[in-house]
Amino acid sequence: MNYRAWVAKAAKQPMVLEPVDLGPLGAEDVEVAVEHCGLCRSDLSVLNNDWGASQYPAILGHEVVGRVTAVGPNAKGLKAGQRVGVGWFSGSDMYCHQCMSGHHNLCPNAQPTIVGHRGGFATHIRAHWAWTFVLPEKLNFTEAGPLLCGGATVFAPLAMYARPTDRVGIIGIGGLGHMALKFAAAYGCDVTAFTSSDRKFEEAKGFGAHHAVSTGDSTAIGKLGGSFDLLISTVNVRLDWDAIIGTLAPGGRLHVVGAVLEPIPIVAFSLILQQRSVSGSPTGSPMTIATMLDFASRHNIAPQNEHFPMSRINEAFGRLESGKARYRIVLDASF
Ligand SMILES: [Zn+2]
Ligand SMILES: [Zn+2]
Repeated sequence: MNYRAWVAKAAKQPMVLEPVDLGPLGAEDVEVAVEHCGLCRSDLSVLNNDWGASQYPAILGHEVVGRVTAVGPNAKGLKAGQRVGVGWFSGSDMYCHQCMSGHHNLCPNAQPTIVGHRGGFATHIRAHWAWTFVLPEKLNFTEAGPLLCGGATVFAPLAMYARPTDRVGIIGIGGLGHMALKFAAAYGCDVTAFTSSDRKFEEAKGFGAHHAVSTGDSTAIGKLGGSFDLLISTVNVRLDWDAIIGTLAPGGRLHVVGAVLEPIPIVAFSLILQQRSVSGSPTGSPMTIATMLDFASRHNIAPQNEHFPMSRINEAFGRLESGKARYRIVLDASF
């Protein structure tokens, strides 16, 4: 087999197309010929070694859509030719307490697709069968890539905490936030977009927000005091967290999925007196991801993507880094 991949040799270096030797297929693994792969902020963080955990050479890409080409002898529920997706994790140990209770995304031995494993900016990717998701027939697979990581990340807190009667705020209307608006609106919630840019108000409403507020407008945020059952924060910048937590209703929850590196200050009384919570979560369990794909298919939810051929991968990373991408980037296989 002639496997090729876009390889990052070291931090912050442009990727180069090279042949790769994938070796024998693992007994429980599935091989997928990549058709499309979303470009996620985390790919850039791993390329730049922002988290200090990158391993080089690295093959990035963890929002894969493709077709199964080979199935290991012990892989369950998949067969060659099926159209599938692979996201942030491509395996977990399948025996720990978390895996056995359905929370494989919390497994201490979960295998990130792009750290110590070959990712999807390649002709082929391999993943454990439990982390390889058959795409629903009706799902628009050309645009579906970003659902596998970003979509799962914002869908998981809705699945865990939101009811259709809830008032939900989505903080940050970018790659993650615009998908969160679509999911929350389809869930039936009353949805408010928090964005740094007034220019995004109309667009946010186009994604399903019923209201929009500027994160820089303290007066407007003050007026929302005590109103939200759930806030999902997708930003990676510092905000006026005290004011934002103040917009939570009694019993409300601020849920963080954006990797903001600076601490979020919490005033104990603000949580205690109103019985509020602050929480976070990584991607979704396999069951959550499968449910999200089904929900996205039923409600016709697709991320808004810009497409590049994979041969222009370095340009696409530059576009992501510029912050100008609206709202996600998908690379289409071109080998
Ligand atoms: Zn991602
Ligand atoms: Zn486990």
